[in-house]
Amino acid sequence: MRDVCIVGGGVAGLAASIFTGRAGLDTLVVDGGESILARNASLENYPGFPGGIDARRYLQLTREQASEAGASFELGRVTRAEPRTETALEEGFVLETEGGDPIEARRVIAASWPDSDYLVPLDVGRTQRGSKHVVAVDEGGRTAVDGVYAAGRIADRPHQAIVAAGHGATVGLAVIHDSEANFYHDWVAPEGYFTGRGREVPPACEEIDDAERRARDERARKRLLEAFSEPLGEKPTMHPSVDREDD
Ligand SMILES: Cc1cc2nc3c(=O)[nH]c(=O)nc-3n(C[C@H](O)[C@H](O)[C@H](O)COP(=O)(O)OP(=O)(O)OC[C@H]3O[C@@H](n4cnc5c(N)ncnc54)[C@H](O)[C@@H]3O)c2cc1C
Repeated sequence: MRDVCIVGGGVAGLAASIFTGRAGLDTLVVDGGESILARNASLENYPGFPGGIDARRYLQLTREQASEAGASFELGRVTRAEPRTETALEEGFVLETEGGDPIEARRVIAASWPDSDYLVPLDVGRTQRGSKHVVAVDEGGRTAVDGVYAAGRIADRPHQAIVAAGHGATVGLAVIHDSEANFYHDWVAPEGYFTGRGREVPPACEEIDDAERRARDERARKRLLEAFSEPLGEKPTMHPSVDREDD
């Protein structure tokens, strides 16, 4: 059984998986389509990219980051989620997917804008908004059902990528907290930051010396230069209701 299954590998789901993966939780991301951000023509309000970024490249890089953080990925649309046993939610949940094997997980993060129909058997508390439903959550993304969380637009957060990413991170941290993982903050600090004050390096924190810091910076710059060396060449996905001819 997985520690956490994240339904939806879009902006919120990927951000959540980076945190749960780095905290050592066995994390599976199941995605049945593509992020709505793939429809964007130029992402210009995401902090850190002063000239903007191709949204599909942002998604690709974030997926790579999640994978390197330890998350696994599976393609498939989740169609149903229910407790493994009728009586004990701590026994976890079983998720059915279209055409795939059932997935078992102790905790579930729904990050599947705009689909939450698979949550109906769990009775998490959904509210209709136009043709879609949103899920009620507390400040950590916890729903009314212990062990089930919602992140991003599906949790009624504002429809912006940085908000969805931040909410995904918040929910990932709540899952880590509720899993009782040995966790303080996911920080990388310079050598001596804690130990220089006679303190132990807290769990999930790391101290690195200057040579290691420079080596990581070198790797990071190389990676980004490679990633941005050529245009991606993928067009935005058009709204399904718009007729268009391929050129
Ligand atoms: C045309 C357009 C332009 C935009 N431009 C901007 C912009 O410039 N700046 C900005 O900040 N925001 C922009 N946005 C908004 C931004 O894309 C969203 O707010 C953000 O993607 C929401 O993140 P999310 O993780 O909640 O949902 P998503 O990123 O859509 O991720 C949801 C994921 O869940 C998957 N999924 C759904 N149902 C299931 C299921 N049953 N089983 C498995 N997987 C499932 C989907 O395939 C998808 O990958 C734009 C949106 C559109 C449509």
